[in-house]
This record gives sequence, structure tokens and C-alpha cells, in this order.
Amino acid sequence: MRKKRRRIDVKKLALVVIAFVAIMGIITTTWAYVDNQKKIKAEQLRIEEQKRKEEEEKKKYTVGTSHEGKKYSYDAKKIVEKLSKYDYSNNGEKIVFLTFDDGTSTTNTPKVLDILKEEDVKATFFLTGQNIEYGGEASRELIKREFEEGHAIANHTYSHDCKKLYPNRSLDLEAFKADLDKNDELLTDVLGKYFSTRVIRCPGGHGSWKNMEPLDNYLEEKNMVSIDWNALNADAEGKRKNARELTEYAIKTSQGKEIVVLLMHDTYGKEETVKALPAIIKYFKDNGYAFKTLV
Ligand SMILES: [Zn+2]
Repeated sequence: MRKKRRRIDVKKLALVVIAFVAIMGIITTTWAYVDNQKKIKAEQLRIEEQKRKEEEEKKKYTVGTSHEGKKYSYDAKKIVEKLSKYDYSNNGEKIVFLTFDDGTSTTNTPKVLDILKEEDVKATFFLTGQNIEYGGEASRELIKREFEEGHAIANHTYSHDCKKLYPNRSLDLEAFKADLDKNDELLTDVLGKYFSTRVIRCPGGHGSWKNMEPLDNYLEEKNMVSIDWNALNADAEGKRKNARELTEYAIKTSQGKEIVVLLMHDTYGKEETVKALPAIIKYFKDNGYAFKTLV
């Protein structure tokens, strides 16, 4: 009798142990499954959140300028076509593109930006990498400011070294491309991966050099555009001019044109350009011009 009970006890015990192990197994597996599902869900949410943030970030950009700046922008290609035919008419609608080359400078660019803000007009900045690097963090912040305040950003090569870009006054396409790309990389580094610009200005002006056809073909292929100017304040030519002379030069070269692409510089040493800027803007406002940017 006693013997039999003990045998049953052993069987029961074995069953209990087996049941316990099985239940524990089920619990552990279920728990691991639930935990894994939670992790998957969390990862999905993280990816969705990242995508949403990227989309949000992308919305701030449009080619050459910020989303905010888009409403002031104008197709640079159309302007280049007009300029190439020396046709500055625009069906009675006057437009001016204030363009600043060789920036940024930590001395004059902030003042130019202050004036543009004060006057509530937009401009296009043709930036040069070497000057940006020279100005360090302050220069990079200025580019961000240009972008955030709705101006257009264009590529004026990294080195601006005419001897390298056009040896014997003749284009070296590979050197030019490398220089453009280097500047592009710097601009993207400052403004973020969604920034891009298709507008360039050749150092010294496209019209000044020989053998430019390969560059034109390259730009055409990449849907990019090189633009010169049809008016200037002459802050980089001839004898040094004071603010009044710069203003007069800008007005003289703009007169009678419904499309004006005005060349100026906001780099180091161009303090007189800063001084002249309010009067130059006043001239275009008084004469009914709309201020646009090139993209
Ligand atoms: Zn230049």
C-alpha cells in the first residue's frame, strides 16, 4: 500500500515538473515574443519619426534658396538667354537682381544683410569657398543667415584662382569642375544635405575667357547655368571709387534696362559698396523695379 502511493507520488511529481517546465517555457516564449514585438514597434516608430523629420527638413529647401525665398526667385536660365542676346526688355515689367560676389566676409556681409533686411529686398550671393574658410565659423553662420533670410546662394568656385581655372586665359575644364565641386561640398556642409544650387558665376566673368564651350556643354548636361551681369557698381574695376561714385556707376549702367543683373562685391575691402547700397536700392525702388533672386 505504502509502496504504491510512493510510486504515484513520483509519477505526479514528474507530471507537475513537466507541466511546470512547459508552462515556464510558454511564459518565457510569450514574454520574449511580446518584448520583441515591442522592440519592432519602437523601431518602426523611430524610423517613421526620422522620416517625418527628414521630410520636414527637406521642405525648408528649394534649389538655390530656402522655401521661404522661393517666392522671390527667378529662373536664371531665362535671364541668361536674354543677356546672351543683349535683350534687356521684359514687357514693361522691371526686375533687378542684386548680386554679390566673392563672399562671405565677416566685415561687410553682415552689413549688407542688415541693409537688405531693412529695405526688405532679396539678393543673390555668389560665394567663394576660400573666403568662407578664411572667415571660419562666423562666415558659415553668415551663409546660414543668407539662406534663412530668403536670399539665393550660388557657386563662384572654391579658389577663385583664375590662373588655375583658365591657364593662359583658356578654360581647364577638369580644374574648373573640381573647384566647383569643392565649393558645392562646402556649401552642403554648411547648409545641409538638402541644399543644392544650379547657378554659378565664373570668376572674372564667363565672357572673359577662351575655350568656354566645354564648360557650357557640361553645365547644360547638368541643368546648371552660368550667369554674368549687365550692370555693375564697378567696385572691382578701375580706380577705387567712393560710395557716391559706385552709386552713379550702378545707375549709369542700369539705365534703360528692364532686366538688370547688377554686379557688386561683399568681400573684404568693399566698405564703400556697403555705404552705397541704400542709395542703389533706393534708385531701383523709385524706378519701379521688383527685386528678384537667381535660381
Ligand atoms: Zn569674383
